[in-house]
Amino acid sequence: MTDIVPQLLDWYDREQRDLPWRRPGVSAWQVLVSEFMLQQTPVARVEPIWREWVARWPTPSATAAAGPADVLRAWGKLGYPRRAKRLHECATVIATEHGDVVPSDVDTLLTLPGIGAYTARAVACFAYRKRVPVVDTNVRRVVARVVHGRADSPSSVRDLDDVARLLPDDGDAPRFSVALMELGATVCTARAPRCGLCPLGRCAWRSSGYPPAASPARRAQRYAGTDRQVRGKLLDVLRDNSSAVTREQLDVVWLTDTAQRDRALASLLVDGLVEQTSDGRFALAGEGD
Ligand code: SF4
Repeated sequence: MTDIVPQLLDWYDREQRDLPWRRPGVSAWQVLVSEFMLQQTPVARVEPIWREWVARWPTPSATAAAGPADVLRAWGKLGYPRRAKRLHECATVIATEHGDVVPSDVDTLLTLPGIGAYTARAVACFAYRKRVPVVDTNVRRVVARVVHGRADSPSSVRDLDDVARLLPDDGDAPRFSVALMELGATVCTARAPRCGLCPLGRCAWRSSGYPPAASPARRAQRYAGTDRQVRGKLLDVLRDNSSAVTREQLDVVWLTDTAQRDRALASLLVDGLVEQTSDGRFALAGEGD
């Protein structure tokens, strides 16, 4: 499989998307911010928010000095706002315990709030150019197809070993990792792989006639009508108000199912994204009494 390295690197040099967090001069902190945002949100939605974020808070200490409500407002419509809270906590730990410098080794990165196996390796690889395997859903799918001849692969610890075996030994390893991810994101996509544009000369799945996945493809998660949507609507009210709002101001945003609305509000309180004032009103975290 050694030919995969030059084929993929040549293709990446020609076809890579111009993403701002991949440009020279972007700091490790700014790479880390991009990885937090990209965890569950597409590139197109992340890009403008990331630009504003790193211009406003270019370092961990600048982020840590912001109020939690400012961070939640800046997160905007990226969704899954617990990530914003975790990013703020992560910034605080880096600022206070790591001299405002993002750690470069995977084990230390894994001790930080909000950083899991993927993000730790992504930061070590993309920010510090370490030769570590980075496996997200795109990489997992490409490797399942190219190496194992399967349509996709469930997450497993073997993924890291599979990708580690493909990594070149030299300084090209980080570029190879990002190229593998890019191939999965833009060519070897889950639903409609564009094999006619694929730079790889060999692919076990293609050679064996595209055998179907053992289990049916997961359907895209719906958003309309979910607790996530209701939480988003409640947070919108609080983002738009710099002081606490009444229960009635929140209740009116979701009249379809009052039990669902109450559940969504309770979960925002439990997550620490919203707080209740002593007179019973509601505010974004840090903007209560
Ligand atoms: S040949 Fe098709 S299935 Fe195989 S890696 Fe390329 S795009 Fe994916």
